[in-house]
Amino acid sequence: MILEAQHINKYFLEPEKHQVLKNISLSISEGELVSVFGESGSGKSTLLYILSTLDMDFEGVLKIHNQDIKDLTSSSLTDFRNKHIGFVYQFHYLLPEFDVLQNVMLPAMKLSEKNKEEIKKDALILLEEVGMKDFAKRPSYQLSGGQQQRVAIARALINDPSLIVADEPTGNLDQKNSELIFELLKGITGSRNKAVVMATHNPKIYLNSHRSIEMIDGFIRL
Ligand code: ADP
Ligand code: MG
Repeated sequence: MILEAQHINKYFLEPEKHQVLKNISLSISEGELVSVFGESGSGKSTLLYILSTLDMDFEGVLKIHNQDIKDLTSSSLTDFRNKHIGFVYQFHYLLPEFDVLQNVMLPAMKLSEKNKEEIKKDALILLEEVGMKDFAKRPSYQLSGGQQQRVAIARALINDPSLIVADEPTGNLDQKNSELIFELLKGITGSRNKAVVMATHNPKIYLNSHRSIEMIDGFIRL
């Protein structure tokens, strides 16, 4: 098991206290691609934020690789997250002033477990896997949306995380690029011992995932 969430409740206090996640329990195994779908405002992003350990303000238990996340100190949590979790967002957040290769290398440079040459080698392999090696030296702002998202996936994989969390990664792409990104994410779960959890509105994606979870008003539909 890569991830296990038990009885997650989440409240926001503004404008007044309201419950956004209601007793969410789910687990995700190696090799699974799990889609979360549901109307805007149903709580998908809030849930993914918690599952990726970026939001620690929740009730319930979250275990990743059997590690209870709430038992980690904040510095060991940052380390844990850098090592085990990769993120892909709807808007890629590549740094425009850096080239493609530097963008992919960045999370590994931060973790600093490998030297620069090794990181560069890893980054080029990943860029090749996502079909972007020829663009390594281009500034990221020169790429199309679909190309940027492919680079963002390479960046998410650079520290070899076992859990990839993607919040509407195809949200602003056309159907063709959406399918390409989806196939890349699916490929990740096939070729390595990894799992992907992604929020999406696209039926073609959630109907073709290994498992799909519908969220309705903060609940998971069972
Ligand atoms: P989704 O990703 O499914 O569209 P979200 O998780 O973004 O849904 O939002 C779920 C609910 O939580 C919505 O009602 C939204 O207005 C509310 N919400 C999200 N972020 C905040 C916040 N920072 N403060 C208060 N309410 C929030
Ligand atoms: Mg959202």
